[in-house]
Amino acid sequence: MYYAKETGRDSYCIYSDEMSLHNMLEVETALRRVLERDELTLHYQPKVDIHTGEIYGMEALLRWFHPTLGFVPPDVFIPLAEEIGMIGKLGEWVLHTACEQNRRWQEQGLPPLRCAVNLSVGQFQYTNLVETVRQVLLDTQLDGRWLELEVTESIIIQDTEKVIDMLLELKEFGIEISIDDFGTGYSSLRYLQRLPIDTLKIDRSFVKDIDSPEADEAAIARAVILLAHSLGLRVIAEGVETEVQLDFLRSENCDAIQGYLFSRPVPAEQFAELVRSQKRLPVRLDVI
Ligand code: C2E
Ligand code: MG
Ligand code: MG
Ligand code: MG
Repeated sequence: MYYAKETGRDSYCIYSDEMSLHNMLEVETALRRVLERDELTLHYQPKVDIHTGEIYGMEALLRWFHPTLGFVPPDVFIPLAEEIGMIGKLGEWVLHTACEQNRRWQEQGLPPLRCAVNLSVGQFQYTNLVETVRQVLLDTQLDGRWLELEVTESIIIQDTEKVIDMLLELKEFGIEISIDDFGTGYSSLRYLQRLPIDTLKIDRSFVKDIDSPEADEAAIARAVILLAHSLGLRVIAEGVETEVQLDFLRSENCDAIQGYLFSRPVPAEQFAELVRSQKRLPVRLDVI
């Protein structure tokens, strides 16, 4: 298979801290059957407008629970799915499930929300992603404007011209594009200007140390917010866990947050409950 040839078994050693090789082979065998055994679900984490305090969207995050292996984190099985050539199928399942769920919520009378789905390098390189997305929107009858796709800098640097063309085609469906984990990859500022994107997501690692205002991370978060706004983009901070982080981001005029402070990623039913209960981020009255 393509990925196996390309990266080789040696790449399993990246996981050696967490898992033995034997364990990884077990995971691989189980992963090959994950779809037929129906072991995947999506959890949804709210994205909240920092100024109104309201949920305006969510990110779908893949969860795999295996009867004997237990919970296998996506950081482990997604790269493995890329290697063994399964990412196309997995990615399609995620897109379909998230869009279907989102349309069902709209039918149930929930206010329409934009659901973000993460994409992998392999989906751009080895699958007809544009056609898949077109088909999923058709099958699920979801309007493209309620879908957002999160791409990482590693996707963009693979084959920038091809990726830009694909993103332009995707945007014709009304879809929004965001750059995930921004600041951790290698994207050059020149590309940023040319990419058809709507939002930058400040990586969690920069949000983590905002608590100490002299930290370099706070300076980086501030710079990313300014950069996004001067390019006419929105900016959301991921991994927000504390009030101090929230206050900092608010004072720097960040547009939105996502993180445990507001909610962890939760199963679909629980997410609908959060929306129905109109849970909000406390809005500081002195700044309105
Ligand atoms: P990501 O796209 O950057 O997703 C955000 C990760 O941060 C999620 O981890 C989420 O649970 C976690 N997170 C959110 N808020 C907080 C917080 O306040 N504190 C901390 N410590 N963590 C927080 P998760 O669900 O384990 O996913 C890890 C990564 O796996 C994702 O990073 C994404 O790169 C990948 N992934 C997950 N689902 C999918 C999928 O359906 N497709 C693809 N291609 N990748 C996925
Ligand atoms: Mg993401
Ligand atoms: Mg991220
Ligand atoms: Mg991340």
